[in-house]
This record gives sequence, structure tokens and C-alpha cells, in this order.
Amino acid sequence: MSQPILVVAECKGSSIRRVTFEAIAVAQKLLQQRAGAVHCFLAGPGEGAELQQAARELLTYGASEVHLASSSEQTESNALASLKPLQSLVQQLQPQFVIAGHTAYGRELAPRLAASLASGYIADATAVELLDDGFAFTRPLYAGKAFETRSFTGAAPHIVTIRPNNHETAAPLEAVAAANESAINTLPASASPLRSIVREVVSRVSSGIDLTEADIIVAGGRGVRGSEGFQLLQQLADQLGGAVGASRAACDAGYCDYSLQIGQTGKVVTPQLYIACGISGAIQHLAGMSQSRTIIAINKDPEAPIFSIADYGIVGDLFEIVPLLTDELKKL
Ligand code: FAD
Repeated sequence: MSQPILVVAECKGSSIRRVTFEAIAVAQKLLQQRAGAVHCFLAGPGEGAELQQAARELLTYGASEVHLASSSEQTESNALASLKPLQSLVQQLQPQFVIAGHTAYGRELAPRLAASLASGYIADATAVELLDDGFAFTRPLYAGKAFETRSFTGAAPHIVTIRPNNHETAAPLEAVAAANESAINTLPASASPLRSIVREVVSRVSSGIDLTEADIIVAGGRGVRGSEGFQLLQQLADQLGGAVGASRAACDAGYCDYSLQIGQTGKVVTPQLYIACGISGAIQHLAGMSQSRTIIAINKDPEAPIFSIADYGIVGDLFEIVPLLTDELKKL
């Protein structure tokens, strides 16, 4: 019997997170050399119709079965509640791989799953390569200063988390327009031993665009000089349909909220376009954004290290350049 691949799906509110569609695409890639099905595990609160709707959507993206774990404790911020039902499902399905997003949820869940099953775990994979005799996963080391390629040698299941925004997303299958309800299974309730419970979640994302999934980020550093400067960045981000990010120095100075911090101790982002304004390019900042597809740096110091990784550099005053860019974009 061909081993399936199990994707750990994730929702944010009622929407499936993009990294889930990336994980499905990675699973489909891993199945290019052999037959096998993609299954999804999806945990969510209560009996919600939203969970069923998300499950139907996953089927239209190529999942052959979706396994739902629902209880009042199942939330995107409570990975521990997902552990037991996921463990039972893995033991029942015997998948070759379990793939989750390298998100807060996945980072908490995947290593616990691997430890409980004595399985191998590759974290934060940015690329997957098919080899003649297996698969190789690329992942960053030393805060992005180097990359290594790893393969699994032990017995399946192999546990992998993938870095969001680094992989193609699965495309919806037109042939599965009407999702087959019988492919949605509700897993028996199995209470996980919770060592902590989430009492309250305070969301501090103001623009509504999740930084880790944003295609365009306009980020500001100490050079932005204050919250008024960040409003200029927000205007540019709004014109581009992007999100605003920040360096730690800008957050420390109180120019913006810590939820915007990008870097080694902040969020890791991989947008299509990253515009760094008044950011010097310290290694700890680069650790969070150097994998962005295109980087534009605006800095008045021509020697600023950020220019060494930028695809395009503008040497000048951000207070002149950012409003100019915004005005030009408004004319389009
Ligand atoms: P600065 O280094 O002060 O640079 C400001 C830049 O703005 C300068 O290059 C200047 O030329 C330019 N500038 C000034 N005025 C203008 C203007 N009008 N127009 C254009 N350019 C202008 N940092 C992070 O960002 N993220 C992290 O996650 C992070 N984690 C860290 C973890 C550890 C353990 C440590 C020790 C540090 C960490 N840091 C992190 C801090 C990091 O080392 C740097 O101090 C920080 O990134 C600097 O931020 P910055 O580039 O905004 O400020």
C-alpha cells in the first residue's frame, strides 16, 4: 500500500493560511515519483460550520481526505491541543511525511510530534529537491548566513515544517468543484494533556495583512525617526497593497509596535518585494528578510550594509523618496 502524505492545515479565523496550500504543493511534489494521496489534518474550535467549510476547500485543492479534530480547546494558538489527535491519526495512516507550516503553531506542534514518535524532524525547509534515491530539504542555518541540505535516513514518518512564502502554492482542482463530504472525517475526541491553556488572544496586527504572508512589505528602521514617519510608510504600503514592518531599533524606540519587528528575534518574512527604509542592515535584521525575492533599500548612507543585499538601492532621504513614490503610485 502506498504511504500517504499528511499535511497539517492551519486556519486564521475562518480562512485557510496560505502556508497550508504551500504544504499541499510540497506534498504533491514529493508524490511525483510514486503513487499516494495527500491527507490533511485540520484542528479547530467547536462544531463550527467554518471548519467544515475549510475542510471542503482543502478537498478542492487536492486533499483526498480531510481529518477534523474539533474541540473548544483547538485554536490556532493552542498547538498542544492538536498533539494527541494528530498523533493518533499518524499512527493510523502511517504517512511517509507529515508537513506543517513553520509558523508559531507548526513550530510548537511538529517537534513534539517527532519526539513522541521518535521520528526525524527537519525544520524551516525553504526548498525541496527530488533526488534519484529520495528527497533533500534545504534549510537556513546561523540566522540565514548559511544553508544546509538534509535528508531523512530513519524510518517514516518524517516530520517537516516549511517556511511560509518559500514554496509554490497548490492550485484548486476544477474537477473537484463539488467536494465529496464523505472525504471529511471527524476524529474521535481525544483530550491532550494540556500543560498550559490559552486564556486570551490579543491580536496586534492592525493592517489586517499578516506580515509573514505579505507579498509586499515596506519596513522602517531608526531612520524613520518616529510614529509620524511610520505613517508615511503605511501610506506607501497601502498604495502597494502591502504591510508595514520594522527593525528592532524602531520598535525599541517606540516608533511602532513590536508585532512589526522583523529579524532574528522578530518575524521571518519572504515577500516578493521588501522595501527597507532607514534600516542599516544589521545581521540580526537580515536574518528575518534576506530571502525576500526583491529588496529595495532607501538609505542616506551609501555605505550602509543593507545595500550589499539589496537588488535596488536608493541613496537619499527617505522623507523625500517615500512620499514621492507614494504620489507616483497614486497616478497609476
Ligand atoms: P540603525 O542601525 O541605527 O540604522 C538606521 C539607518 O537609517 C542608518 O543606516 C542611517 O543611515 C539610516 N537613516 C537615517 N536617517 C535616514 C533618512 N532620513 N533617510 C534614509 N536613511 C536614513 N534587529 C532587528 O531589526 N531585528 C531583530 O530581530 C533583531 N534581533 C536582535 C537580536 C540580538 C540578540 C541583538 C544583539 C540585536 C538584534 N537586533 C535586531 C538589533 C540589530 O543588531 C540592530 O541594532 C538593528 O537592526 C538596527 O536597526 P536599524 O537598522 O533600524 O537602526
